[in-house]
Amino acid sequence: RVAEPAAAQTVDTACPYCGVGCQVRLTVADNRIVEVEGRNGPANENRLCVKGRFGMDYVHHPQRLTVPLIRKDGAPKTCDMDPANPWTHFREATWEEALERAAGGFRRIRDNHGGGALAGFGSAKGSNEEAYLFQKLVRTAFRTNNVDHCTRLCHASSVAALMEMVGSGATTAPVRECANAEVIVVIGANPTVNHPVGATHIKNAVQNGARLVVMDPRGQALSRHATWMLQFNPGTDVALLNSLLHVVIAEGLYDRTFVAERLEGFEVLKQHVSAFSPEVMAPITGIAPDVVREVARAFATARGAMVFWGMGLSQHAHGTDNARCLIDLTLICGHVGKPGSGLHPLRGQNNVQGASDAGLIPMVYPDYRSVEDAAVRGFYEDLWDTPLDPHKGLTVVEIMHAASDGRIKGLYVMGENPAMSDPDLVHTRASLAALDHMVVQDIFLTETAMLADVVLPASAFPEKTGTFTNTDRLVQMGRAALTPPGEARQDLAIIQEMGRRLGLTWDYAGPAEVFEEMRACMPSIAGISWARLEREGAVTYPCAAEDEPGKAILFDDVFPLPGGKARLKTADVLPPAELPDADYPLVLTTGRVLEHWHTGAMTRRATALEALEGEPHCLLAPAALARLGIAEGGPVRLTTRRGSIRLAGRPDPQVPEGIVFVPFCYTEAAANLLTNPALDPTAKIPEFKFAAVRVEADQAA
Ligand code: SF4
Repeated sequence: RVAEPAAAQTVDTACPYCGVGCQVRLTVADNRIVEVEGRNGPANENRLCVKGRFGMDYVHHPQRLTVPLIRKDGAPKTCDMDPANPWTHFREATWEEALERAAGGFRRIRDNHGGGALAGFGSAKGSNEEAYLFQKLVRTAFRTNNVDHCTRLCHASSVAALMEMVGSGATTAPVRECANAEVIVVIGANPTVNHPVGATHIKNAVQNGARLVVMDPRGQALSRHATWMLQFNPGTDVALLNSLLHVVIAEGLYDRTFVAERLEGFEVLKQHVSAFSPEVMAPITGIAPDVVREVARAFATARGAMVFWGMGLSQHAHGTDNARCLIDLTLICGHVGKPGSGLHPLRGQNNVQGASDAGLIPMVYPDYRSVEDAAVRGFYEDLWDTPLDPHKGLTVVEIMHAASDGRIKGLYVMGENPAMSDPDLVHTRASLAALDHMVVQDIFLTETAMLADVVLPASAFPEKTGTFTNTDRLVQMGRAALTPPGEARQDLAIIQEMGRRLGLTWDYAGPAEVFEEMRACMPSIAGISWARLEREGAVTYPCAAEDEPGKAILFDDVFPLPGGKARLKTADVLPPAELPDADYPLVLTTGRVLEHWHTGAMTRRATALEALEGEPHCLLAPAALARLGIAEGGPVRLTTRRGSIRLAGRPDPQVPEGIVFVPFCYTEAAANLLTNPALDPTAKIPEFKFAAVRVEADQAA
């Protein structure tokens, strides 16, 4: 609590940060948030983590954008500028001038070069209605499917594997099903840091008797609660998972009824994994065969098992293969479609699930219906009353490549920060700077906005009303508690105005009207009306009718694939895209810290969070740090084939020798200057979790 309000009001909404989707109650006075408390939502049961409880004051930060900005003639495009002082490179503009400049640039490129020369990045931080309207704008006004968002950088590989194997890209059971699980698996995720309230469900389940398996090359706090901690070698997920599959099949531990009645491809999988015994894989994974056998037996024979994974699994050049093996293992043991069982990719941003569902993806319309299916396309052409691009669009990193070689000339960015989040930032920033025309709509002058031609001041989460879908497929109502500062406008209003200036006849009265249009084309939410959400606050999808509760556990009967059966897939053990060598002998892996969220645009402007963890740093094994002659917290230089950064070196006994971990939230030492842009061939997700790196004491210190 920061003040005693004279005439305070409370507003029930949700947390703006991670995909757990905790419900919060904001106390507001004089258009300022003075208190945050957790509500009894399905995902959080009154709990909040440090970000949700102490991270809301970013909305009041003096660096909020309050007027539209236009780049000054001749001002260089650089991220090396002070976000508190945009006037060195930008001048203030009226909304009329800024919108006309923004839309005029897109019109000119579209009319001269075709819609394929344009692209849009929507946001997983925006509402479902904003995501839907943004992708509709790109598809109908830009006339291209070049629309994507940060799901490409986090769980694109998980979604690709889930779609092809079980027919749906979302979780099959909510986090709280841990309470009914006998075994819980966490692989490539660090929930106590990245999904802290979700982690409390796991810890509670363990206290009540569930056995926990954590698989992670790096140690983590959750391992204290684990029966088995498998600290396998980085990049060897397929080898480890195939060895678990080998044991389950060789020892006949799989669910024979489930395999026979619900799955396709078992014989091929059985044949494939016969070569991957734990003994053969041990030199690759570093995990003793006995431990693999013990874990395989416990998992396969459990009555129910929940399987959680995160970006440690997905952010690899073989991320889709990693997810395929994990899904195979879960399916053949029958751990889907019943209480205490399920596949759960932990989603990072508070609406990355909803933004994906709403069609902010270059290959699919809302509800994951292919843009290349003529019948589906015809449906949307009728609904949106315009011809649509019949080809799938470019993904995030592909758009960067196309920008660098001139195929993409104009980019509309709403609430994303690719100049911090994308791999190989030297190339990414040069690509963004090379664009003829970039418009950024955001609440701060992010590193991406610094490279824009036009910057449009937008609304923060507590300033908007809209729906948000959490990692459990729970559609929740977010309610406006504040008025945007200065001349900043609602994102939904800005998108609409952009659409009108590009020739659309849009006149949505507000988010409720957009949501009703979404219901008309998304069977998954047909039973979730705006009025129902206002009444109930949160409803799980799929929900076909207003009198249905929504289905929390999926696939108890059939899988939504032709024939109704899930499809098992095989994967080979392949090396990472770039291996350590004499020049770059260690493995770089990137991720988040508890106090900061993603590129740090919000949390680094939250007073308490920045005070708790404001120093750019990397984590190394204590012995490795000592060998380099670096004192605790001393300056370290990290260098890869793509770039070099300087930051503090901290010892961490949970980091094995040979690995260095860097949080990617620090603009002063941007981790993604180092990362490898190699892409997974299926999902096009970059390999953030493995790059060859050199670590040295910084001589310039
Ligand atoms: Fe917010 Fe996630 Fe923390 Fe919950 S766990 S308070 S949703 S950041």
